[in-house]
Amino acid sequence: MVEDLDGHALPRRPVVPLVESVHDRCSLEIFRGCTRGCRFCQAGMVYRPVREREEENLFRWGLEMVRNTGCDELSLSALSSADHSRILELSDRLARELEKERVAVSLPSLRTDTFSVELAARLRRVKRTGLTLAPEVASPRLRRSINKELSDEDLLEAVSAAYREGWRKIKLYFMIGLPGESEEDVECIGDLVRRIMRQADGGAPARDLRLSVSVSTFVPKPHTPFQWCRQMSLPEVARRHFALKEALRVRGVTLRWHEREMSYLEGVLSRGDRRLAPAVAAAAREGCFDGWSEHFSWERWERAINSQGLDAAWYVERERELSEVLPWDHLHAGVDKGFLREEYLKAKRGETTGDCRRSGCLRCGACGEASPPVGQAGVDTG
Ligand code: SF4
Repeated sequence: MVEDLDGHALPRRPVVPLVESVHDRCSLEIFRGCTRGCRFCQAGMVYRPVREREEENLFRWGLEMVRNTGCDELSLSALSSADHSRILELSDRLARELEKERVAVSLPSLRTDTFSVELAARLRRVKRTGLTLAPEVASPRLRRSINKELSDEDLLEAVSAAYREGWRKIKLYFMIGLPGESEEDVECIGDLVRRIMRQADGGAPARDLRLSVSVSTFVPKPHTPFQWCRQMSLPEVARRHFALKEALRVRGVTLRWHEREMSYLEGVLSRGDRRLAPAVAAAAREGCFDGWSEHFSWERWERAINSQGLDAAWYVERERELSEVLPWDHLHAGVDKGFLREEYLKAKRGETTGDCRRSGCLRCGACGEASPPVGQAGVDTG
């Protein structure tokens, strides 16, 4: 683990492609790790602990990057950019300096709260960027289960703040198929979205607001507290999608979902074992790797998996026993398996776990024997 990110300077002369790229901007990694503890999130577990780069270095490196590349946007990247302890000062300084050169400063990942929205609003002077918020779920019970600290009121206030600041198009990310989710939990998404449309203009209906609701399917990932959970079958996900379609027939709201067969394949590969290797080779022979999502064919993948005597549902839809030896147990990503197990059991009981930057060290194992790095304010090292 790189303990001191400041000691490892970022490349300040990144390669600039000759053609326009998808993410056509400079990316300045302001810190690594996240200790909010969302139980489905692999990045939040494997990139622990939080290690911040210092404001002075970031300011200097950000300016250098922009001047060396000619990019017209500088993105302050992190798993949750607004969580950097000096984000206000850093973003204000960079925005003031770069505004003169018509270069925008943006935040790619925002928390769902008023602070983050107001922060994004301060950075909109040069370029009107879109706004994406990720409430993930809409029912209080599921929020406790995934360990996401958020209430309907927080989300409503964040959307109202965005509306007040001039945003008229907002994207909301939700996830379906989470452990313990019921059909009522999915209906809650419809209720919440309708409530937002009714109240986003300071408690009154926001008639010109356009909400784009984007829905992904939960895929359990190794090295997370949900690594033992089952993933929903294709018919179960289809039922959820159609229920959402009905629940979100609301003027001004559009619904998009991630292709369920693609998520199912992701589920097979995410928690696969070495026996899958010949199946992947067979899939390549079947022509499954052409790189065009419109030509994606789950049937061809399934044929390839079956041709090796394997069953996709065994990998995807099966809840693992806590005693089962998992294919990735010999790999250590930092966080101890015992901590993941505790978090899994707490999710089942509907209990939450605090953020160690505020509530003190939870002994997840990511810091090893070392002291928690700088930036972990409030950490009790015992
Ligand atoms: S070891 Fe403690 S301080 Fe370090 S990331 Fe884990 S809970 Fe946080």
